[in-house]
Amino acid sequence: MPNTDSKRKMPDDLKRCVRFHGHICPGLVYGYRVAKEAIKLMKLKRAVDEEVVAVCENDSCAVDALQVLLGTAAGKGNLIIKDFGKNAYTVLNRTKRQAYRFSRKTRYNYKSKDKSTFDRLETVVAAGTASENERRKLKRLKMNDLLARPFEEIFTTTEVSFNEPLYAPLAPSEPCAVCGEMTMAAKMVKLSDGRKACIPCSQERVSREA
Ligand SMILES: [Zn+2]
Ligand SMILES: [Zn+2]
Repeated sequence: MPNTDSKRKMPDDLKRCVRFHGHICPGLVYGYRVAKEAIKLMKLKRAVDEEVVAVCENDSCAVDALQVLLGTAAGKGNLIIKDFGKNAYTVLNRTKRQAYRFSRKTRYNYKSKDKSTFDRLETVVAAGTASENERRKLKRLKMNDLLARPFEEIFTTTEVSFNEPLYAPLAPSEPCAVCGEMTMAAKMVKLSDGRKACIPCSQERVSREA
């Protein structure tokens, strides 16, 4: 990142998110702020198993910060993606049976000295006429803004009722009748001849039989 200023000030836990995610971007910073707020509100420790669950209403960069800081990871069953395209996250704590939903409030709203630069950059980026440099600069302004502002200016926090999501099923696997690959039994599809196949094989069959 060319901006050495924000790089120098980057907190260690954000650095860990960047290392995992591969780059720094406004989306990651959203997730970072949400994860930190959830940790503070519910005094969370990173989930070793599934005691913390995150329900993300988008599949953007933000999700990765939650994976790193909350331990709500795709392979563990405690990360649920509902791809509604909304910048909203619910974090549940199974131990305390507590849950909070964080939902982004507003568009970027500059009151600072950067306001006119921000507006100009946003216009050229939206118009598709921005240079690489201008796009980068806009991203940087957004990230700095997101990091500097009080959380409650960016997100609305609501305590929600605790509805326990199911634990990740520990289902036995069986070989698919067509390809022979081991597949979770619960995800298999019964073919017309009664044998059980994996989803891709069953779909191939249907299209061949049609
Ligand atoms: Zn990203
Ligand atoms: Zn198969």
